[in-house]
Amino acid sequence: MSDSDFAPLLQPLDLGFTRLQNRIMMGSMHTGLEDERGGYKKLAAFYLERARAGVGLIVTGGVSPTLRGRLSPFASQLSFPWQVYKHRHVTQAVHLTQTKICLQLLHAGRYGYHPFCQAPSAIQSPISPFKPGAMSVRQIKKTIQAFAHSAELAKKAGYDGVEVMGSEGYLINQFACRHTNKREDKWGGSLQNRIRFSVEIVREIRQRVGYDWIIIYRLSMLDLLSDGNTWAEIVLHAKAIEAAGASMINTGIGWHEVRIPTIASIVPAAAFSWVTKKLKAEVNLPLITSNRINRPEVAAACLHNNEADMVSLARPFLADAQWVKKIQHNQIALINTCIACNQACLDHVFNNQQASCLVNPFACYETKYVIQRVENPGTVIIIGLGVAGLSCALTAAKRGHKVIAYDAGGAGGQFNLAARIPGKEDYRFTVRYFLNQLEKYKVALHLHKKVTFEDLRNNHADAIVIATGVTPRLPQIEGIDHASVMNYEDAICGKKDPGQKVAIIGAGGIGFDVAEKLLNFSSQYNWYQHWGIDCEYKNAGGLLTQPVEDHSQRRIYLLQRKNEKPGKNLGKTTGWVHRLSLKKAGVEMLAGVQYKKIDDAGLHLLHQGKDKLLAVDTVVLCAGQVSERSLYEQLKAGGRTVYVIGGACEAIELNAERAIRQGMELGLNL
Ligand code: NAP
Ligand code: SF4
Repeated sequence: MSDSDFAPLLQPLDLGFTRLQNRIMMGSMHTGLEDERGGYKKLAAFYLERARAGVGLIVTGGVSPTLRGRLSPFASQLSFPWQVYKHRHVTQAVHLTQTKICLQLLHAGRYGYHPFCQAPSAIQSPISPFKPGAMSVRQIKKTIQAFAHSAELAKKAGYDGVEVMGSEGYLINQFACRHTNKREDKWGGSLQNRIRFSVEIVREIRQRVGYDWIIIYRLSMLDLLSDGNTWAEIVLHAKAIEAAGASMINTGIGWHEVRIPTIASIVPAAAFSWVTKKLKAEVNLPLITSNRINRPEVAAACLHNNEADMVSLARPFLADAQWVKKIQHNQIALINTCIACNQACLDHVFNNQQASCLVNPFACYETKYVIQRVENPGTVIIIGLGVAGLSCALTAAKRGHKVIAYDAGGAGGQFNLAARIPGKEDYRFTVRYFLNQLEKYKVALHLHKKVTFEDLRNNHADAIVIATGVTPRLPQIEGIDHASVMNYEDAICGKKDPGQKVAIIGAGGIGFDVAEKLLNFSSQYNWYQHWGIDCEYKNAGGLLTQPVEDHSQRRIYLLQRKNEKPGKNLGKTTGWVHRLSLKKAGVEMLAGVQYKKIDDAGLHLLHQGKDKLLAVDTVVLCAGQVSERSLYEQLKAGGRTVYVIGGACEAIELNAERAIRQGMELGLNL
């Protein structure tokens, strides 16, 4: 794409009373800093870095207007004047720049993870152990006032506006849908009654804050529930919100309880921008589109195709704080792309840990990890350019060291394999990012060069870093050398051809990846139909009435010895997507197996105490890895000061997040 193709993203957006410097919004994300003692100063540093790099509008993580509306007992709330002060750290920092910032007001409703949660009706959500109390009319009215009061406090704190969270199945969305609203008073029943709550919140906020302040309403444009709202209802809701005084409408897709992926890596790029476009014909307010917009090309296409007036990206701003600036400077290939893994952001938050980013461990640690140039630069040799080696090389080079890096193959290591898995194609952009950055920082790269102990014996480098990665583990099973057996690298790279009946030994992350790679769907495969989404929006919630059967043409067994749910240790927020994907495709998962032997008849095993023969023509080994550290051991025995990072350091639960962070931390300390 040429520079001019990105120009629409950089156009200002005039809201009448104020102007956004461009059409790129950093969408709401909870980082965990909000709930930490003194966390707002760190949050200010986090937002300031993104604001300095030119983002048009920032929306903060969700803050509750009431105690009962909190997501969890200690989650953020803005209801009292004394709570205003800490927000000023954030607004004052961001206002050192031209960027605008809005506070998101989010009442969790029945998604509140505590016994005091409330909802329109007392119906428990499938993702919470707590049954909500049904709100009385008095409580409804008080909650509307609480939203407006929080908005007033947000204005006092210096925010440029608020985003009212009306989607993803939170309280306001719960009022709008029959699924959760069974009330028979004027707050339930007809659409007019169900949206009374959202409309009154927006109207009340507008009355209190005046006409020169931003109100974004995040509208659930596609509930993905069988008794979600119809398209006609969504349009009426949007028009009512417009009339109530909102300045912009943002796109919300799917409820958290729905088992249809909306932001996982398997979701196609900008998969839901068509919904925003559909609404554009109906309202006059500027519309913001969101979900799986991670690259400038994808974002620009949304505006180019007139699908929205603005794009919202959240996780990509964790992956690269300079996302906007790099577009402005035509440095697209230097962007660190969000790979939608959720591993260090959402998975951390759901585990009550601070968010960061797998590909950018500096994210949310802006005050802890600071790159400072060294006074006396040295020479650093790095052997192995998987992501650990790449990350170390880049950090050391940024600090001013002379870095010389080698790899026996190309750079990227396990990420090159991952990039061949359907839905993980974006992993190649991580490798692209590192390679382009290494070039920028003048790292001497020697690819396809195997380094031996002899090569290093007389080398006087100041530091040698071994990042030689892993090799696949070869399990001890009779017949492991049978012609039908291949390791996962050969299966993923297509060096060997798997047959039509495949047994996968090992149901960890890579076993799941290999199964997804081998699914081999028919040419009729359609992602939306596969997940039951109706792009014609004929039914309530935007779902197909008849699920489309989409079994793989291959027979696949996914096996593990542990007698527990396969995929149990996959990511908290993405594991279900992988398990459901394989289930829908007809992959058979067997846990608690004992492998007996492999021969011409197939794989013989013991399953739940009974002999079983899987008559497969291919067995793929995904049984974990062992560290490749012979060079490290040799150098250490030779008395050299040598560091080891990544898979070469620890192959158990090999983990890219840990590898990149370890590389970066070593680079900061060399
Ligand atoms: P893994 O997660 O450790 O899984 C290895 C699998 O091999 C397990 O199912 C294990 O189950 C089995 N196994 C181990 N030793 C064995 C032996 N001697 N004989 C037979 N089976 C054996 O490793 P991985 O799948 O290679 O993944 C590596 C890392 O990459 C993971 O830790 C993960 O962090 C990451 N990754 C994650 C994802 C994701 O979350 N989607 C995707 C790809 C990679 P039993 O011992 O029960 O048989
Ligand atoms: Fe994106 Fe993964 Fe980073 Fe989250 S951890 S921001 S999903 S790359």
